[in-house]
Formats: sequence, C-alpha cells, structure tokens
Amino acid sequence: MSSPKYKRVLLKISGEVLGGKNGGLDYDAINSVATQVADAAKTGVDLALVVGGGNIIRGTEAQNFGVARTTADYMGMLATVINSLALQAVLEERYNLQTRVQSAIKVSSVAEDFIRRRAIRHLEKKRIVIFAAGTGNPYFSTDTAAVLRAIEIQADLMIKATKVDGVYDKDPKKYADAKRFESISFRNVLEKRLQVMDSTAIALCMDNNLPIMVLNIFEQGHIVDAIMGKPVGTLVHS
Ligand code: UDP
Repeated sequence: MSSPKYKRVLLKISGEVLGGKNGGLDYDAINSVATQVADAAKTGVDLALVVGGGNIIRGTEAQNFGVARTTADYMGMLATVINSLALQAVLEERYNLQTRVQSAIKVSSVAEDFIRRRAIRHLEKKRIVIFAAGTGNPYFSTDTAAVLRAIEIQADLMIKATKVDGVYDKDPKKYADAKRFESISFRNVLEKRLQVMDSTAIALCMDNNLPIMVLNIFEQGHIVDAIMGKPVGTLVHS
C-alpha cells in the first residue's frame, strides 16, 4: 500500500450513525463503523476519534421537555461516553485494536481523563484514542470538540463522517439537482450559509488552518481514500 497523505487524522463520528432508526445503539451500525476505523488504522496514520451523542440525547432536545440546558448538555456529554465505550469494546474485541478512551469530564472508573500529552503518547504508540464527553463544557457541540482536539493533537486532517457524502449547494434530500462540492473554502461555506458544522467549530478551523473532509461513513473505503489523499466527499479548507 502507498503511504498516506496525512500523518495524524481525527475522525469525528456523529452519534446518528451509531444509532438505529429510533436512536439508541445499533450494534450492526457500530460494527460497520468499527470496520471502517480498523481499515483506517491499517493505513498507518495516527488515528484519534471523537464520537457524538445525538443518537442518545441532544441537549437542545432535552431542554424542550423541561430539563435545564446545562443539565441537558451534561446528559449529552455522558451519552458520548456511552457511545465511546461501545465503539472501544467492538474495536478491541472484534478487531483486536489497541484503544484508549479519554474523557473531558471525570468518569475515571471507565475512562482516562483527557491529558493532551498522554493522548499524543498513545497515538505515537499507534493506539486509537477516543475522545469522549465533548469539550467538557455545556453550550458546545461535539463538532467543536473534534476541531479542538484535532488542533490540540496537531492533526493535519479532520474527517467528519456522517450519513451524507459531502457538502451540497442545497439539501440533496429535497432537491434532485443539488450539486456536491469537491472542495470549498470556509469563507464560502459561511457566505453561502452551508450547514457543515456550527459556527464555533467553523471559526476554530479557519483560525487554525485545519482542513475538514466531509464524507459518508457507510460508503465503503471512503475514509481510507480520504486518508490516502484521494478525492472523496468534500474537502473544506482555508
Ligand atoms: N455537548 C456539550 N458540550 C460539548 C459536546 C457535546 O454540551 O462539548 C452535548 C450537547 O448537548 C450535544 C450533545 O452533547 O447536543 C451530543 O453531542 P452532539 O449533538 O454534538 O452529537 P452528534 O450530533 O455529533 O451526534
């Protein structure tokens, strides 16, 4: 195999890809995601993951039922811990990979605390590091957490893996003539008001020159292709 274009990659996996139709955990989906992660690890890149929690709980949704926003957000962060542990278990037990979960909020019975230098040491030893509990703060998203961790570990690419295969000029579910961008600048994303990530995450990427590849995690081989520098999905860049 030729060598990867990137040295250290952070893969953001949204919660919805781990959940079934009614949310919760879908082990077929988790297994399919784990297969992609295992293939990505085989390329030899340093690989870190950030897992969302939207399949279990989203802060803003819980708020609608009378839970205070901050409490709802902490519930969301704990949901990402559950997802991270599920993915860790499958990666280790089925794929025999070495992994560590590091959490931004203290859950020391089940995961390490987030310590940047320790995370980097794990990556150097080719362990897959799963960052759980987002940024550890309410009012943020796991997309922002992913960008933050990517910058902290000096990743040279962040892959945002969702159920959509890139960034479109309009909603591809509603418009048959929607066009996918092969690449687009952050400035254009903001000007055209394209829904790639929340504005905090986009601002952090722009300020720190972190490129984002948006792709569909269920398209077999696309994560590996992105790591090898092949054109898949949409590359969002400075
Ligand atoms: N969350 C938070 N701070 C963070 C990251 C996440 O408060 O730094 C909460 C927030 O309520 C969010 C929930 O955790 O709705 C789940 O994360 P997210 O919605 O980003 O997950 P995804 O959409 O990727 O599944």
